[in-house]
Amino acid sequence: MKIILLGPPGAGKGTQAAFICGSYGIVQISTGEMLRVAVASGTPLGRRVKAVMDAGELVEDKLIVDLVERRIALPDCRNGFLFDGFPRTVAQAEAVVQAGIGIDEVLEIDVPDDLVVDRLSGRRVHEKSGRTYHVTFNPPATPGVDDDTGEPLIQRDDDKEETIRERLRVYHGETRPLTRFYEEGAPTLGVRYTRINGAGSVTEIKQAIADALTQ
Ligand code: AMP
Repeated sequence: MKIILLGPPGAGKGTQAAFICGSYGIVQISTGEMLRVAVASGTPLGRRVKAVMDAGELVEDKLIVDLVERRIALPDCRNGFLFDGFPRTVAQAEAVVQAGIGIDEVLEIDVPDDLVVDRLSGRRVHEKSGRTYHVTFNPPATPGVDDDTGEPLIQRDDDKEETIRERLRVYHGETRPLTRFYEEGAPTLGVRYTRINGAGSVTEIKQAIADALTQ
């Protein structure tokens, strides 16, 4: 099973991706997470992309497509994978088609902008594991601390309000056209396209996704 999870930043893609991958035994491929690991370890790639990420802009297509193609060639992707945060531009989606990567399902989690701002500005992350919380909607047992390790949670630089607004602008300009690309192109591309209402709770969205995937 090969799945693409679409939606604005803050739609809960990372959280839902973890559920889906657990249920289907497939690998979660988050380009944002891969880039953050590269930045944290100070690799040449990380040094190249840090400023772009901090500003909420998109990293260049070729670099991302190369990263993804190398990742899905690894043996753990044999049973399938879920793309979280990729593709992000029509050019990236076209590269997926060109590469002959047959996607089965495209799920769009649809969330209005104001809710995105509320969600992201309250988001806190455990840096090592990538586990995410929200100060109001999904708080850790002890404020500011990861449930599993007891280590401190941080706020990502790109989750500050000004950067969130920029990420939303980039989303509407560059990534939103992908919903049309997949919805209208579904018959030709051989994918199933489902739009999920992302304004509900984590559990409600999880259920809507499970229903869509078992239909
Ligand atoms: P995310 O965690 O998916 O929100 O990604 C964080 C940041 O990484 C984005 O704001 C971009 O700067 C960069 N990024 C992640 N995935 C992509 C992609 N597919 N194309 C371009 N830039 C990306």
